[in-house]
Amino acid sequence: MTEHARLQPQPIPFIDVAAQRRAMGEKLDQALARVTGHCQFILGPEVRELESELAAFCGAKRTVTCASGTDALSLVLMAHRIGPGDAVICPSFTFCATAEVVALHRATPVFADIDEGTFNISVESAAQAVETAKKQGLTPRAIIPVDLFGLPADHAAIAALAKAEGLFVLDDAAQGFGGTYRGKRLGGTGLATATATSFFPAKPLGCYGDGGAIFTDDDELAATLISLRVHGHGADKYDNVRIGLTSRLDTLQAAVLREKLTLFPDEILSRDRGAARYAEGLKDVVTVPSVPEGYSSVWAQYTIRIPAGTREKFAAALKAEGVPTAIYYPIPLHRQVAYKDFPSAGNGLPVSDRVADEVISLPMHAYLDAPTQDRVIDAVRRAVKG
Ligand SMILES: *Cc1c(COP(=O)(O)O)cnc(C)c1O
Repeated sequence: MTEHARLQPQPIPFIDVAAQRRAMGEKLDQALARVTGHCQFILGPEVRELESELAAFCGAKRTVTCASGTDALSLVLMAHRIGPGDAVICPSFTFCATAEVVALHRATPVFADIDEGTFNISVESAAQAVETAKKQGLTPRAIIPVDLFGLPADHAAIAALAKAEGLFVLDDAAQGFGGTYRGKRLGGTGLATATATSFFPAKPLGCYGDGGAIFTDDDELAATLISLRVHGHGADKYDNVRIGLTSRLDTLQAAVLREKLTLFPDEILSRDRGAARYAEGLKDVVTVPSVPEGYSSVWAQYTIRIPAGTREKFAAALKAEGVPTAIYYPIPLHRQVAYKDFPSAGNGLPVSDRVADEVISLPMHAYLDAPTQDRVIDAVRRAVKG
């Protein structure tokens, strides 16, 4: 080994998909072989089985899978006939898909600020966003809270605002599926009008490609979603009663997810232990995330805050030690070229702006062992001390 190679620390993966694949062993190969055996690649038996297993897991009344998390959001907006003149309230500090689906259906996303302690939508700011929408002559129809980084939003407060304003609640649980709010898993009955999640590989419950699901208590909504995901079919496949999409979850992906779902409860516990270990090792040097009483996070990201202006140097110092970082999200949506002309609540979104300059995410997954995590913790402590 050369001197240089000895000095280069082994890079740590940000998310270790390969470790999880090893944990599934031959059971996964067998599950895939069953699908390549029966050849029902579209809406095969694994899709229905997965739908009932997901419903049992989160306590949902109805579960409809689809092709992605973005489609899951889109399908619900389509079912509710969201369109021009409608306003949909959503946070600005989120992944673009949350607002993209609103704009795609020619409605207006109205951005609300976030709560500084949780990174989730501020219900006060959401109430202001409703007023902003009305002043602009728009009809407030829906609110899309996001369970950012795996932590549930304040669903009781959101439900109260939604009821007062006649909105439906579409929970964007792409990052939060598996998390709990007051004893209920996201997607469970009574938490939202509909809950959308994503099975993109990097999400807490991911497949080996794209996938998504919608959970709802509303049978009529579920029936509409089932129609919309296959071109808006009626009683018969060639009887089209509405304009829809091609948005089915592949049978192969359902087979992968059924295997992963058996590991998921233990993985959630493992992520939570990892988060507790990070907090213990880092809370005296950086701002670590906190979980309010009555909530649990699935830690889609472990996001810390460091002083604005120090992030580039900090990330470079970690990288030199083989520790990857990521910035979710460097630019809030209300500052992005594609979204900057849509309205924001009140007089701007100061918390979203501030947080976007200070956040940085550390490696987080269910197979992060203690020695690896200690390397991350030591590297962060060294980088902070400069
Ligand atoms: C990943 C993500 C989505 C979109 O999910 P896809 O499956 O990639 O379409 C939507 N909202 C949030 C908050 C996300 O993190």
